[in-house]
Amino acid sequence: MPPSTTPTTVPTELLPDSLCTHTPRCPSASSPAAEAARVVVGHPEQGWSLLCNGVLLFEDTGELLPDGRIIAPRRLTEV
Ligand SMILES: [Zn+2]
Repeated sequence: MPPSTTPTTVPTELLPDSLCTHTPRCPSASSPAAEAARVVVGHPEQGWSLLCNGVLLFEDTGELLPDGRIIAPRRLTEV
């Protein structure tokens, strides 16, 4: 089988926006409500979940956005 002739361009974003198939669509990764998106891959034992908008949400509330930006964890409760 010959390889596909489609050029394999690798954008900085690994996940397309179309990952969200929900109706209504979940908040985009750049939205303040990004973490309200549905979890598509959850690894609680590893402490992270992948949301359908491409955001990696960590159990400490930190986030890694699809464009590589990092949102620092929010301390909801004083330790
Ligand atoms: Zn969604």
